[in-house]
Amino acid sequence: MNQTDNTDDDSTPRDFIRDIVHEDLNAGRTASVVTRFPPEPNGYLHIGHAKSICLNFGIADEFGGKCHLRFDDTNPTKEEQEYIDAIQEDVRWLGFDWGENLHYTSDYFEQLYSWAEHLINQSMAYVDDLSADEIREHRGTLTEPGKNSPYRDRTPEENLALFQQMRAGEFENGAKVLRAKIDMASGNINLRDPVIYRILHAEHPRTGNEWCVYPNYDFAHGQSDALEHITHSICTLEFEDHRPLYDWLIENLPVPSEPHQYEFARLNLTYTVLSKRRLMQLVNDGHVAGWDDPRMPTISGYRRRGYPPAAIRDFASRIGVSKSNATVEVQSLEACVREDLNKNAERRMAVLKPLKVVIENYPENQVEEFDAKNNPNDENSGTRKISFSRELYIEQDDFMEDAPKKFFRLSLGREVRFRYAYFITCTDVIKDDAGEVVELRCTYDPETKGGNAPDGRKVKGTIHWASAAHAVDAEIRQYDYLFSEEVPGANSDGDFLADINANSLTVLSECKLEPALRELPLGETVQFERIGYFCADKESSSDKLVFNQTIGLRDTWAKKKS
Ligand code: ATP
Ligand code: MG
Repeated sequence: MNQTDNTDDDSTPRDFIRDIVHEDLNAGRTASVVTRFPPEPNGYLHIGHAKSICLNFGIADEFGGKCHLRFDDTNPTKEEQEYIDAIQEDVRWLGFDWGENLHYTSDYFEQLYSWAEHLINQSMAYVDDLSADEIREHRGTLTEPGKNSPYRDRTPEENLALFQQMRAGEFENGAKVLRAKIDMASGNINLRDPVIYRILHAEHPRTGNEWCVYPNYDFAHGQSDALEHITHSICTLEFEDHRPLYDWLIENLPVPSEPHQYEFARLNLTYTVLSKRRLMQLVNDGHVAGWDDPRMPTISGYRRRGYPPAAIRDFASRIGVSKSNATVEVQSLEACVREDLNKNAERRMAVLKPLKVVIENYPENQVEEFDAKNNPNDENSGTRKISFSRELYIEQDDFMEDAPKKFFRLSLGREVRFRYAYFITCTDVIKDDAGEVVELRCTYDPETKGGNAPDGRKVKGTIHWASAAHAVDAEIRQYDYLFSEEVPGANSDGDFLADINANSLTVLSECKLEPALRELPLGETVQFERIGYFCADKESSSDKLVFNQTIGLRDTWAKKKS
C-alpha cells in the first residue's frame, strides 16, 4: 500500500495526477479542469468506485473545476434504471454533487453514429462480416501480427450502405461489425482494427428500441469526453493499452475538444471481492441479502452498515493514487471508520448478551436518573438521563463466578462500578438445573452514587448495564468478513465462492438497549459503550428493533490472526 508519498504537510492530497492537473493549469494548457466519473449502470457501486469518485470529484473541488457524472450506458442487455438511481444516491451520499452535469453516453448516440460514418468516409473504418471467433483468430498474438480481414478493402460507399443497413435493423446480432481500420500488425493489439460498433437487438433503458447498433466502450468513451470538454479523463490501469486508440480516435474525428486519458491503479482490498460481476453473483446466488447487505463492499452496504461517508473519503485520501497495483488491507478502511466514529458518534449503553442482576438492598419500585455524557470527545454534545432500578442486565461476559485475579469485572464477592451509577458487590449466584448462571444477587453502596466512594476506596472495573424495566428489546446483527481468505479464490483457482466465510453473520436476538435508541434515526451511528459502534437497520420497526454492528471498538483481527 502506498501511503507515504501522497500527502503534504498541510494534508492537501498530492499525487501524480494532481501534479499533472496543476502543471496543465499553470502552463495554460487548460483554463479550468473538467473531470468525470463514468460508471456503467450494470450494478451497484463498490469501494473501488469510491476511490475513483473521490479522485475525480476531489480534483474538481480542489482546482475549482467541475466533475460530471456520466452513465456509460452502451450495453443495454446488462443495464437497468435501478442501477442508475442507486449510483446517483451513492455518489450524493458520499458527499459529491455533479450539479447540472448529469450525462448519458446514450445522449450522444446520434453524434457517435455520424462520427462512425465520418471514419467510413475517410476510409478509416469498414464493415466486417467475420464472426467474433474469426475476428479473434485473425487478431494474432503478442508475438505475431494479425491478418487482414477479407472484408477490409470494401469501398467507403459499400461500407456506408452496409452500416446504414446495420442501423436499419437488417442484420442479426453478430452478423456484422464496424471496425476502425488502423493496423493489423501493430504491436498494440488494441490498434489491430478494433471493433467500434456491434449489432444488438435489445431494448435500452433510455433509448428503448430506437437503436440496434451500439458503440463499444473505446469508441464511445473518448468521444463522450470530447463532447463534454473533459480535460482529464482518469481511468484505471487496464485501459493504459487503450490510450493509443483513445488518441487515434480523438485525432481522426472532428471532435470539439481534445481530452487526455490518465491511468491510476485500481483499489484491491483484502478479504473482499471488488467486481460488479462477482458481487452480482453473491446477490443472485443468495450468499448475501442484496446489494446493500451490510457485509457487501458496496457503498450502499457500507451506508446500511453505519460507515460514515467522511470515513470513506478519508480512506480514499489516505490510500492515495499511484501507478502500481497493490492490495490494501481492509483493516485500514476499518481504522478510518473507527477514527471518525470515536470522534463523532454519541455514546449509549446496551447489553448484547444479558444476565439479570437484582440489587437486593435497592428499594423496589424506586427509579433514579443519572446524567450520562453523550460524547466525551465533544464538549457540546451534552448529556442524557439514564434510569437505574432494582433489576438490571449486564453482559454475561462481565461476570465470572470464580475469577482469576486479573479479571476486573464482576465476580462473586467482588465490587465493581456500574457506569454512572453505584459500586455494586455480587453476593450470590443463581443457576438453572444445567448449572448455568441465570441471575446474580447483588448489593449496592448508596454512598457511591455517581460512581465514586467518599472514603476514597477504588474499584478496578467499570461495567455497563441496562435497567430491566426501561430497556427496549432489540435484535443485533454482527458481521465478520464475507470471505475467510485474504485473497478470495487464491487457493482454489479463482473460485472465490469457495472461500465464503460461513460465519459472517451472527444474530443476537435478546439484546437490551437504552430506551432512547428506539428513536435513533436511520443513518446515525452510535457507540455502545465498551462494545463497538451500531446503527439501526432499515428492517427495524416499532414492533421489532433491529441494529447492525458497524464495527467493534478495537481491531481484534490482529489478535485473531496470530
Ligand atoms: P467492475 O470491474 O467492478 O465492474 P468497472 O470498471 O467495470 O468495475 P465501471 O462502472 O466501468 O466499473 O467503472 C466506473 C469507474 O470506476 C471507472 O473509471 C473505473 O475505472 C473506476 N473503477 C472501477 N473499479 C475500480 C477500482 N477497484 N478502483 C478504482 N477505480 C475503479
Ligand atoms: Mg466496466
